[in-house]
Amino acid sequence: MTDVTTLPDRRLLLVHAHPDDEAIGTGSTMAHYAATGAHVTLVTCTLGEEGEIHVPALAQLAAAEADQLGGYRIGELAAACRALGVADHRFLGGAGRYRDSGMMGLATNEHPRAFWQADLDEAAGHLVEIMREIRPQVMITYDGNGFYGHPDHIQAHRVAMRAAELAGAEGFGPAKIYWTAMPQSVLEAGMAHFAGSSDNPFVGIEEATELPFCTPDPQIAARIDATDQHAAKEAAMRAHATQIPDNSWLYSIAGNFGSEFMGVEYYTLAVGEKGPGSGPYGWEDDLFAGLAVADGPDRSPVGAAGSR
Ligand SMILES: [Zn+2]
Repeated sequence: MTDVTTLPDRRLLLVHAHPDDEAIGTGSTMAHYAATGAHVTLVTCTLGEEGEIHVPALAQLAAAEADQLGGYRIGELAAACRALGVADHRFLGGAGRYRDSGMMGLATNEHPRAFWQADLDEAAGHLVEIMREIRPQVMITYDGNGFYGHPDHIQAHRVAMRAAELAGAEGFGPAKIYWTAMPQSVLEAGMAHFAGSSDNPFVGIEEATELPFCTPDPQIAARIDATDQHAAKEAAMRAHATQIPDNSWLYSIAGNFGSEFMGVEYYTLAVGEKGPGSGPYGWEDDLFAGLAVADGPDRSPVGAAGSR
């Protein structure tokens, strides 16, 4: 158990569904805050046992065969966190407590340990204990649709929000909660860029608004520019080699948009008060904006437990 009084002033908690979600969705944000002295805690809810395997030599680890992918992905996640400079990563309820539920509607949703079947308060209770220990001022998770509808992402949202509510009732809930998002203007720019390309990740999409994570620009609260961390994010993604093939469209977009695609991440603010920001629509450029610890030097110790 960490003694919160020895942690840095700024403490950021991320709640993700599977190993690799942290890197793809929030890798630059994590690397940015870790590099600037904040304490970054990653909680991953499942081992990602139902993932596809893109490394042929490891194909027999699959759930339907040896069912060893989850254990293997613990190692991939550890390597990704090293690339991001994040030392504090945990699995909700301990590694293996909750199983990857697979895509919506599959029989794997019904597995007795499937995260989709988790008792909400029990699962949230595991996260409350981490909040009690770390006292994060800022939490990042997904919106109510889990960004794109995967059951484990929806459940991660529910568990994170319930835990914040329970912790708030005890006086140590996060002051700000962000959900991952993509601004409509950014998606439209990407679609325009790739139109007609043989490698178009948006093929079949007519309007950006068809994408479940498309968010009107005025609803975005924060734009985290961590372009100086784009290489860390790409290294973290490459650590998840079973999940992200070398020829993934993620890397082809990165090749086209470079540090802008890899290094800039966007959020909506679900709980808390928006702080000052200099972006369009007053977008914040710091998730701690408006909090007493924002932009302050990281002093240690922080003083009485529960200060925020
Ligand atoms: Zn996922």
